Amino acid sequence: MRVVLLGPPGAGKGTYASRLKRRLGIPHISTGDMVRDEIKAETELGRTLKEYADEGRLVPDEIIINLLRRRLEEPDCKGGFILDGFPRTIPQAEALDKITEIDVVINLNVPDDVIVQRLSNRLVCRRCGAIYNRLTLKPKRDMICDICGGELYTREDDKPEVIRERLRVYRERTQPLIDYYRRRGVLRDVHCNDPTIDPEIVVDEIISIIKRETEKT
Ligand code: ADP
Ligand code: ZN
Repeated sequence: MRVVLLGPPGAGKGTYASRLKRRLGIPHISTGDMVRDEIKAETELGRTLKEYADEGRLVPDEIIINLLRRRLEEPDCKGGFILDGFPRTIPQAEALDKITEIDVVINLNVPDDVIVQRLSNRLVCRRCGAIYNRLTLKPKRDMICDICGGELYTREDDKPEVIRERLRVYRERTQPLIDYYRRRGVLRDVHCNDPTIDPEIVVDEIISIIKRETEKT
């Protein structure tokens, strides 16, 4: 099963994808995590990427497409994958079409107020990347990761002015993908209006959609 999670920043793509990975046993490929890893490694490329990511701007298509292409060539992707944060533009979607076929695109619909609440209260583990929320998905110990004991922090791009910019970029560059995939008949909508809902309930719904779509063929 080759799945794309589509949705605005803060829709919960990363939260759901990490749980889908555990339950479906296929890799979770987050281009945002790949970008942050590259920045953390302080490579030449990482320094370039940081300038975009810290301001909430998209990294140039060519760079991100190359990173993703290489990742999809790795053997663990043979049995399928969950893409989180890619594609983000029409040229990225066209490039993806040339690399592989996609079975289903899950479109996460989330109201703006929920997005802002999520992003402005998000905490991320410095060590393993696990995602928490100060209000709705609290870690058991203050600012410490439940999974690995790492320190939790607030992402540079989760500051209010950068959140606004990311939402603007999403509407301008990424939203057109909804029509792109709807026209192909692979888009399925999932609605999450309740910020306090247990992520596992949304994950159950996504899994039942994926099963339905991949058993059809
Ligand atoms: P979000 O939480 O906003 O969905 P991500 O964690 O997916 O953010 O990505 C963080 C940053 O990495 C983005 O703001 C952007 O600079 C860069 N990035 C990630 N994926 C892509 C992509 N597909 N195209 C361009 N830039 C990307
Ligand atoms: Zn952790």
